Amino acid sequence: MNPLKVIIIGAGTGGLCLAHGLRRAGIEVVVYERDRTRRDGLQGYRVGISPDGSRALHDALPPELFDTFVATCARTPLFFTMLTEKKQELLTLDVGPGDADALNSERSVSRMTLRQVLLTGLDDIVRFDKAFTHYEQHEDGTVTAHFADGSSDTGSLLVGADGTNSRVRRQYLPHAKIKDAGLVAIAGKVPFTPQTEKLLTPTIVRGVTMVNAPGGFSSIIHVMVFPWDDGGAPKSGIGSTDAELIEHWPGLAFDNSRDYISWGFSGAAQNLPADLTELSSEQLHDLVQERTRDWHEDFRTLFAVTDKRSLFPITIRTSEPIPKWTPSTVTLIGDAVHTMTPGRGVGANTALRDARLLKDNLVAVHQGRMPLLTAVDDYETQMIEYSSEAVRASLKQMSGSDPIHRPVIGRVVLAGMRLAMRIINAVPSIKRKLERSQQEFRGKDRDQSSGVCDSANARSSSSRQDMRPSRRSPMNPASQSSSARSIARR
Ligand SMILES: Cc1cc2nc3c(=O)[nH]c(=O)nc-3n(C[C@H](O)[C@H](O)[C@H](O)COP(=O)(O)OP(=O)(O)OC[C@H]3O[C@@H](n4cnc5c(N)ncnc54)[C@H](O)[C@@H]3O)c2cc1C
Repeated sequence: MNPLKVIIIGAGTGGLCLAHGLRRAGIEVVVYERDRTRRDGLQGYRVGISPDGSRALHDALPPELFDTFVATCARTPLFFTMLTEKKQELLTLDVGPGDADALNSERSVSRMTLRQVLLTGLDDIVRFDKAFTHYEQHEDGTVTAHFADGSSDTGSLLVGADGTNSRVRRQYLPHAKIKDAGLVAIAGKVPFTPQTEKLLTPTIVRGVTMVNAPGGFSSIIHVMVFPWDDGGAPKSGIGSTDAELIEHWPGLAFDNSRDYISWGFSGAAQNLPADLTELSSEQLHDLVQERTRDWHEDFRTLFAVTDKRSLFPITIRTSEPIPKWTPSTVTLIGDAVHTMTPGRGVGANTALRDARLLKDNLVAVHQGRMPLLTAVDDYETQMIEYSSEAVRASLKQMSGSDPIHRPVIGRVVLAGMRLAMRIINAVPSIKRKLERSQQEFRGKDRDQSSGVCDSANARSSSSRQDMRPSRRSPMNPASQSSSARSIARR
């Protein structure tokens, strides 16, 4: 049998995590990325890493690099707060144990920092400026990836980790469609300074905050405070071990995250200009100002002082379910196979979970415990099951068809939702229950063994995507209303 060689397309969250895991296990792996350099394509928005995501990173990265990931995260969020647009508190939940527990905490990381951490130590296996065009599968069981510059590479398994617009998926599963979720968002960043801090409350500063307003409009606010200062040197007051890790981390030279407040403003596509994605950053800035004219003065100032150049539009999209396919020497991980709305904040975390599961199965192949196609089949069966639930639940919580976006009924829904949140906030036992269920959903204390081998034969490769009903998360207003209502009914 030929030694296993894995070709990964896409040096994003999932692809790089998989590359680390395979390399640590002694499996030959090479990553092809279309960006020209490691600095390209790096938007600095916040990604929330759940305990599930942290466990996958812990499993894949060399121990010191995992410690560097932890040390380079922004301050750990302690609260999830829901506010009205007039800055009145509806509900505040504890989100976890804070910095003390590296695996069970919610972590806030800047996307560009996470990418720099994940690129660390992979210089010899990541090839930049390689835009994948198509692949060919051969009768001898190998697969060849072709690139826009005319080059190619052949291996035993091709992994499409190339994101929402995946070319690997378009060739492999041409019937798999991505559709608009009926929502659009505008994201912006503003430096976190003593002046901007005054616009926030202490709970907003130490947490993740969702503002929900009439018309189905909402805003999410994250405060990102990093352990290094404006000059890039470790701040005084952070632990000496962290300071040392950061000082020696080569990725710091490529990272430009400084303390910032990141905000997103979203609404149903039908309630915002049809050409939103064509608007200039100045026009996006004006639009946010105009749609938030009745909001609290502090929020309005926050939007007003945001650097217009930092604004960008996002069309929120979601994968449509498809039946399970026959496994082969091509597979997919992350957004390439399950794009989801940000409703539950688990897109990156699910990509990391895929990377861990696929790596575990490929280690079984490498050790002669499992044939390659059985390993791929088992990975795809499990991945389809949990990712379908994540896609479906994320859409249910964040969709342009939610009644909250309608003119009249939307007001009634909003009023009911706010009442339910206030009740939960006032009753500690219900609040604790909600906190626990949210922490469980995001993987706190979850036993993450991937079930390699045991599950492979037990699962049918023709099973359909799992469509079980799921719980809702408080990570957006619509979900919160549902969670609040269902708990209040019990
Ligand atoms: C504003 C925003 C906030 C988010 N917040 C969260 C959050 O809090 N929590 C969370 O879990 N998720 C979050 N997400 C989602 C998360 O960012 C994605 O789900 C995650 O990055 C998917 O990882 P991936 O590896 O599948 O794809 P990506 O990280 O998108 O990586 C794909 C890579 O493939 C490369 N590529 C594409 N085409 C080719 C080609 N033809 N050839 C070679 N390379 C190619 C791309 O350049 C890219 O580097 C957020 C997303 C957005 C937009």
